[in-house]
Amino acid sequence: TAALTTNAPHGRDELLGGLLPAGMDRRSCRSRYESWRYYKHFPYVASPHLQRKLRAYEARHRQCAPGTPLYVKSVEQLRSGRSAEGMECNYVVWIPFDGLGNRILSMDIEEYMRLPVTNLLGVGQDIEKSYTRLLDAKVIGPAANATAGVPPYVYLSLGWQLKDLLFFCGEHQLVLAKVNWLLLYSDLYFAPSLYTVAEFQDELRRLFPAKESVHHILSRYLLHPTNPVWSMVTRYYRLYLASASWRIGVQIRMFSFTSISADDMYNQILACSRQEHILPETDADNDEAVATGGHGYGSGSNNSTAIFIASLYGDYYKRLRSRYSDQHAAKGTGARVGVFQRTHEERQATQNLAHNQRALAEIYLLSFSEALLTSGLSTFGYVSSSLAGVRPVILLTAFDHKVPEIPCRRAVSMEPCNLKPPQGMECRGKPMDIEGLARHIGVCEDFKDGVKFF
Ligand code: GDP
Repeated sequence: TAALTTNAPHGRDELLGGLLPAGMDRRSCRSRYESWRYYKHFPYVASPHLQRKLRAYEARHRQCAPGTPLYVKSVEQLRSGRSAEGMECNYVVWIPFDGLGNRILSMDIEEYMRLPVTNLLGVGQDIEKSYTRLLDAKVIGPAANATAGVPPYVYLSLGWQLKDLLFFCGEHQLVLAKVNWLLLYSDLYFAPSLYTVAEFQDELRRLFPAKESVHHILSRYLLHPTNPVWSMVTRYYRLYLASASWRIGVQIRMFSFTSISADDMYNQILACSRQEHILPETDADNDEAVATGGHGYGSGSNNSTAIFIASLYGDYYKRLRSRYSDQHAAKGTGARVGVFQRTHEERQATQNLAHNQRALAEIYLLSFSEALLTSGLSTFGYVSSSLAGVRPVILLTAFDHKVPEIPCRRAVSMEPCNLKPPQGMECRGKPMDIEGLARHIGVCEDFKDGVKFF
């Protein structure tokens, strides 16, 4: 597992074992140094190498951020129409789109800077400037004439519409390293795919000795809800969840292409729970599946379990609440079970700030759980699990609206699924190093074409 040589070997302190830098303003962003009080699991700490890299990155960020002379210089270079060699600051600009989970997952793992440069360039998804197009037009490339000059920026499409697959070839990384501004358009997690680049493998190993820890560590480093969101989270937590001795987060997501009836979905949840013993059993449950042992809610007296539900719909909350309200105790355990849901928004409203704030609040409330039951294919669920440091039980997706035969699987790791790996690719006329990749990844529980670290 990850290196255990820091002062706080378990990361259960406000700097998360050296992951976060000390000395940042507490009042302007309370969540940064407070979130450790709420997390239940600290499975990995940042390796000393990662800590050094992050401190160097922060220093570079201070030098290169908007408002600095070096930033002004880089913007001038951008306007000049070509990339320059030896610039102190090079930028990866992330262009967000899609829901919150997608946005969080797609942030590049090496450099993450959010800059007002997209307005400057007027680019959204500028496919004409995508790497593949520029290659086709011989404007850039491993073989392109060096004197022709490297364009000032290149746009990379690495989302569901994975267009710039060559990004995952070493020889193209060498080319992209010469471009001062990379505009990254993605809504998906792709860290596992970086292992296809042989030149990256050693560094990735040093940064993350435990591969399962990549998104867990990065999300705890990068994500810090603003004070208004943090207040929502902590107030709700204190009111409804804090007193429980065991918290189970349940995230129910239904996509239009996978929808099934609420009855079917509810039955799938119960079948999953019987299979994986995730929710407390009730007297109404049949006798063959009594949840005992290995569960926080299964032992001792005065136990209470809080089930926190995140879903766009109120239906599952109502059903689960009535399931546990008839008898206040879970079968055979004497535990009280409370069921809670903070919102049910009915529909996604990605352009609405308040809606997104509530969604982020719920991702955090899920991440403060001891155990998680999440929905397959959902980036919302993926972020909650890795933030929590929990290997979730994942409800399988009803592809073609067919209720899946197996209701759910226990995840092999807390990592998000890399839903679109660059399969079938060639680099330098040779098949991409999928073997190299295969040593570090497995097939996702919820998507057979996806891969994930374990
Ligand atoms: P994904 O579509 O499941 O991969 O997750 P995303 O977060 O990318 O997009 C779904 C969006 O729908 C969220 O960002 C929210 O805006 C909304 N949403 C989905 N599920 C929930 C939920 O349980 N609670 C809240 N508040 N919003 C949700």
